[in-house]
Amino acid sequence: MSISPSKLSTPGAQSSGIVRTRAPGRINLIGEHVDYQGGVVMPAAVNRYIKAVAQANGRSELRLSSSQSHEDLVIPLEHRMPFSGDNSWANYAFGVVAKYRDAGYPVAGFDVRFESNLPLGAGLSSSAALETATALVIEALLGLNLPQTERALLCQSAEHEWAGVPCGIMDQLAVNAGVAGHALKIDCSTLEIDSAPLPANLSAVVVDSKVKHALADGEYAKRRADCEDATAFFDVEFLRDVTIGELDSAQFQLGERVYRRARHVITEMARVRDFAAALEASDTAAAGLLMAASHSSLRNDYEVSCQELDTLVDIAGELGAIGARMMGGGFGGSTVNLVETDGVSRFVEDIVARYREETGAEAEAVAVKLVGGARIENVE
Ligand code: ADP
Ligand code: MG
Repeated sequence: MSISPSKLSTPGAQSSGIVRTRAPGRINLIGEHVDYQGGVVMPAAVNRYIKAVAQANGRSELRLSSSQSHEDLVIPLEHRMPFSGDNSWANYAFGVVAKYRDAGYPVAGFDVRFESNLPLGAGLSSSAALETATALVIEALLGLNLPQTERALLCQSAEHEWAGVPCGIMDQLAVNAGVAGHALKIDCSTLEIDSAPLPANLSAVVVDSKVKHALADGEYAKRRADCEDATAFFDVEFLRDVTIGELDSAQFQLGERVYRRARHVITEMARVRDFAAALEASDTAAAGLLMAASHSSLRNDYEVSCQELDTLVDIAGELGAIGARMMGGGFGGSTVNLVETDGVSRFVEDIVARYREETGAEAEAVAVKLVGGARIENVE
């Protein structure tokens, strides 16, 4: 990628004052583990944010501090190696600086402080929010305004190469492109983004199981490898180009495990289509059943759920949620729930209480609002 002069909105308008940016977290209503197979996903940005306050420092170094980390870091701009251990959070911020620098943007030194009310590692994509808040600081300081897809791709490449996480593009696009009151429909093969209103009588609730996904990285890579075995077999780029009929007739050649992994991906893509149609028709019952089917497929075919997530989904159903399913990579993290807006505060209280009764463990539930995407708040 190279720098295009037309993207310098006001060339030479570099800011030496204070810059404030904010980037929301995201939920994903449906379309799990399909982004890297070219599927459509339906995430939404939510009202939990990472906020950045930054200022050029006139030096060739980045000075980072975060409310979520004890240590401030000073990193020379020419630094080229990913960080490990306690400093690994810097990969999500400095990695973005490095990616803008490598793309040819003349990033100069700045100080930045992050404040966050977005839980880390809970499946709300604090990683993409941190990347995007940083990207917008860089753009504000340089007087740039990149198209959101280009910004999302730079942030994704930082997550791949600096944080070492081979994530799809959903998180970065959702954090950038959120629309208040709407779920997004992102086609991960063309990067086209559309949006669909959430019916006014429905609210989204995130329930954090507090289980940290220790197994997740290796298992995520294995799921991707299984999908790639299936695409190699069918000689296609993405599983979106394989029908369920074609998959079923290849069951024995693929072997049971690869067959079931591909079955999740292909059926999940169909569920996303049906879910979008159900929302459009305000058929909330159908939308809820599709979320339940998504969870079962993630649990049985993709095998990325865990007992805690299954228990939370079961309890949500007993408490009358319209729909509930695990969200994110799996093996822990959060569930996403759609509930009647009238009963939302009661649901939030009851699910935590019932989960405690059944397991003795503490979950955390929060009703979230669907909000607009990341933005530069002001440049002084
Ligand atoms: P998720 O994106 O679901 O929250 P990830 O494991 O992808 O989970 O990303 C979480 C990581 O992002 C944290 O471990 C930390 O390194 C980094 N991170 C996120 N938010 C912050 C923050 N406000 N300050 C410092 N590091 C953060
Ligand atoms: Mg993440």
